[in-house]
Amino acid sequence: MRAPRKPSVAVIGAGFGGLGVASVLRRAGFADVTVLERADDVGGVWRDNTYPGAACDVPSSLYSYSFSPNPDWPRRYAGQPDIHAYLRRTVATEGLRVRCGTEVTGATFEDGRWRIETSTGTVTADVLVPAVGQLSRPAIPDIPGTFAGPTFHSARWDHGVDLAGRRIAVIGTGASAVQFVPRIQPRATRVTVFQRSAPYVVPKPDRAYRPWHRHAFERYPLVQQLGRLATWGVGELLTSALTSHRSLARLVDLLFRVHLRRQVPDRALRERLVPDYEIGCKRLLFSNDWYPALTSPNVDVVTEKITELTPTGVRTADGRAHEADVVVYGTGFAATDFLAPMRIRGLEGRELADEWAGGASAYLGLTVPGFPNMFLVYGPNTNLGGNSVIAMLEGQFAYILDVVRRIVPGSGVDVRREAADRFDAEMRERLGRSAWAGCASWYRDDRGRITTNWPGLVREYRRRTARADAADYRLVTTRTPQVEGA
Ligand code: NAP
Repeated sequence: MRAPRKPSVAVIGAGFGGLGVASVLRRAGFADVTVLERADDVGGVWRDNTYPGAACDVPSSLYSYSFSPNPDWPRRYAGQPDIHAYLRRTVATEGLRVRCGTEVTGATFEDGRWRIETSTGTVTADVLVPAVGQLSRPAIPDIPGTFAGPTFHSARWDHGVDLAGRRIAVIGTGASAVQFVPRIQPRATRVTVFQRSAPYVVPKPDRAYRPWHRHAFERYPLVQQLGRLATWGVGELLTSALTSHRSLARLVDLLFRVHLRRQVPDRALRERLVPDYEIGCKRLLFSNDWYPALTSPNVDVVTEKITELTPTGVRTADGRAHEADVVVYGTGFAATDFLAPMRIRGLEGRELADEWAGGASAYLGLTVPGFPNMFLVYGPNTNLGGNSVIAMLEGQFAYILDVVRRIVPGSGVDVRREAADRFDAEMRERLGRSAWAGCASWYRDDRGRITTNWPGLVREYRRRTARADAADYRLVTTRTPQVEGA
């Protein structure tokens, strides 16, 4: 008797998640793995975010695949071009098949397989792995009025607009603005930064690597692995500080206050830069040049609410008109929309959007009842506040590999509703008593639920995803299993 053939896998998205899961599956001997990518290049957020100063805020030793260390990072926190190059290299070194320029519009589980509708035709696969990230759709706030000059979002930076000698209005003070404002400030005539909520910013222990560092990483890989482990440990500490251990959080708060005091001598400005919410409610930011940029004579920090865009600038609630030549949005992403606008249909034509009508949820952030052979990468409740998301992704890769190994083409494995409900109840309960419960809207979806974040440490997530429990799944056989060469 011939052995059943190995399942084919279609991965949606060629970012860190998609390329990583494809690599792990390929390395495990799954030959038929195709990555479908909407854009004409790989890289996900590291392709899209080309704004000046775009860089990682987690040390690259941990913000890279464990199976593909890179001794050539030029600095501890690599910049966007180097991370993008690393991901492009991954495609070549892992021998990945990526179909760029192929936008997935929907997918249906039919006859034991996924039928995937794309802008370039239909693709079928036994297994579907949506890996579209949480930060691919820029969010532009709906501000009344129209500005007559150039405007763009930080994730769609318009490099054709020369910012030298211009007056620039920046809306938002999140992780992206903190990186690009210090880069554009020296060139601009004036930068007006519109801050709705002040971020907590602490020093970034960045450093350029010298040739001897790179030599050591190349020659003694253990050195870099130890760096990875140490970064992981610090990340876990930070996560517990931000989610549960308030005494640790007070230490981070102290670090922030010392940093602010050192870098912002002007008391009035300093007061405006102190957040009015608890540390941990929003992602902690790392920067050595954000506060110095804000203290520059050509920068204004405006905390009045924006009421309107005018043809020549931005108007605030106090009636002031802030003149500008360019408006840049550093306003983040629609992180809680998950797979939208793709239409995913599972058993009996059930739509994922209906399944998620009360808020996105997935067992371990990975599987949804009624959607067999579908595994989400960076799905609901898998984001972190204080550690590298790559460490979470690698747990997902291991889990997906473990289940895919057990799939016989022609049949589907479907997570049991009881398992998914139990997990969802656990998430709600733990998030409900986490430090985030007392926070305002950040991390919450339109219904007020926290659907993006994981409430524990990475270590726990890795333990729970190390191996799939067969009891959590049921088999849905919809047609005759296929055999090798069939
Ligand atoms: P973000 O952190 O979500 O910040 C968005 C900013 O825009 C916030 O300051 C927000 O204010 C403000 N905003 C939104 N709507 C507004 C409105 N209507 N009026 C005024 N202000 C408004 O977005 P981001 O900076 O683009 O970063 C997004 C995510 O990307 C981060 O959470 C981070 O995970 C990731 N990131 C990672 C790296 C990395 O190194 N790995 C680098 C950059 C970004 P409020 O705070 O009041 O909502």
